[in-house]
Amino acid sequence: MSIALVTGGSRGLGRDMALKLAQSGHDVLLTYVSNAGAAETVVSEITALGRRAHALPLDVADAQAFPAFFETVRAALRSVFDAERFDYLVNNAGVGLNTPFQETTVEDFDLMMNVHLKSAFFLTQGALELLNNGGGVVNISSGLTRFSYPGYDAYATMKGGVETLTKYMAKSLGARGIRVNVLAPGAIETDFNSGAVRDTPDLNQALAAQTALGRVGVPEDVGGVVAFLCSDEARWITGTRIEASGGMFL
Ligand code: NDP
Repeated sequence: MSIALVTGGSRGLGRDMALKLAQSGHDVLLTYVSNAGAAETVVSEITALGRRAHALPLDVADAQAFPAFFETVRAALRSVFDAERFDYLVNNAGVGLNTPFQETTVEDFDLMMNVHLKSAFFLTQGALELLNNGGGVVNISSGLTRFSYPGYDAYATMKGGVETLTKYMAKSLGARGIRVNVLAPGAIETDFNSGAVRDTPDLNQALAAQTALGRVGVPEDVGGVVAFLCSDEARWITGTRIEASGGMFL
């Protein structure tokens, strides 16, 4: 039995990751920050696949609360999954910020840092006690670390940090057989940034025109890559960045 913990599993990319992990045979713990109903829907979808699932609230911007969160994880592992530990952590939860460099405030920067970078660092650190040897961590970055796009200065800077952190964590945790990789999606149609990619036809078409495969992404383009990285087929892959962008801005 294998158990995966997906942050931000209630919607968008995290929802598809949770479903693909379940289809690949994992039981799934997923988190949400405010949409308990959406999270419970995903739990029901996973249960319908014949796997166990449970949703827990978590604000990834609040690192001080992580020890208390892991106590709720410990309790859920025992009560729902009949387990003491889990196998894979997917650091996916996040919000965007599209603000020009000149107008980005200290508060904007801190939010991006807390949500994306500090959370990947301290949530993973906090998980170590409950993570099985031989398991893995998947961090979610963005194509925006490889190319620049106006307004993503603070956001992409944090994702760049997540990519560097991935290499360091892969080295630090390799002795336990824990593999750490980073997946960088391109533009995907989700609620992210108020659904900008999905709901703004001009933006959608402009990005599609800059993408080798001729369209922007949908969540179903990405979740299976996470399931692969959390499988034995990926057992020799660690410290690696994989981009799933359909070839954006090549
Ligand atoms: P969505 O807005 O569709 O979903 C965001 C998810 O994260 C929800 O489950 C939400 O929970 C959760 N979440 C948001 N803020 C917090 C928080 N402070 N603490 C805990 N959970 C939180 O976004 P996507 O699925 O598109 O994005 C997922 C990841 O993918 C992010 O890290 C994003 O940076 C990255 N990404 C997205 C791209 C895109 O084009 N969509 C491209 C490249 C990377 P709730 O439902 O409760 O609000």
